[in-house]
Amino acid sequence: MEHVGGFVFVSGRLCLDLVGTKLWRRSLGTELLNSPDDLRRWVRQAELVDDPSPLDARALDRVRRLREAIYTLVGSWPPSESADARNALAEVNEAARLPLPKHQLDESGRLTRAGGIDEILGAAARDAVDLVSSAHFRRMKECANPECTRLFVDLSHAGARRWCGMAECGNREKVARHRKRKKQESAAE
Ligand SMILES: [Zn+2]
Repeated sequence: MEHVGGFVFVSGRLCLDLVGTKLWRRSLGTELLNSPDDLRRWVRQAELVDDPSPLDARALDRVRRLREAIYTLVGSWPPSESADARNALAEVNEAARLPLPKHQLDESGRLTRAGGIDEILGAAARDAVDLVSSAHFRRMKECANPECTRLFVDLSHAGARRWCGMAECGNREKVARHRKRKKQESAAE
């Protein structure tokens, strides 16, 4: 698991890792993409494009908007009558029509990925429409820590993954269970 500068890539899908740049959505709503520079770091760590052309405040705004549309889309599928869900679908579809990063291989076997904000949005949106239309979508879960709102695709063979994989989630549950057992043991003495 990569954990650099606050960004993690544990969701198994680009679009869900993007959604995960906002944490604790039902409580604190912690924003990890606070500046164009944060966005640039995320794009590089996500291996989306190598060196995105300058990303400004408007680019950041577009990414955050698409991120929220993806979150609404995957959380309210199928879109039924809700206006929010329908708007989210339209927004994600629109971004999915944007160009994708250009991948090129050089003679030494090195891959380069080129693009700017349109390609970043295009790649995230395309991943979202691919996910929702695929069999993997049924394996999408929210972390079992009720406060953590991170989404992931459970690709484990048994389909038994419960935690996003962050230390504060699975570990905290283990610690709580351990404490409870200790308490029960001392009460029984
Ligand atoms: Zn979690």
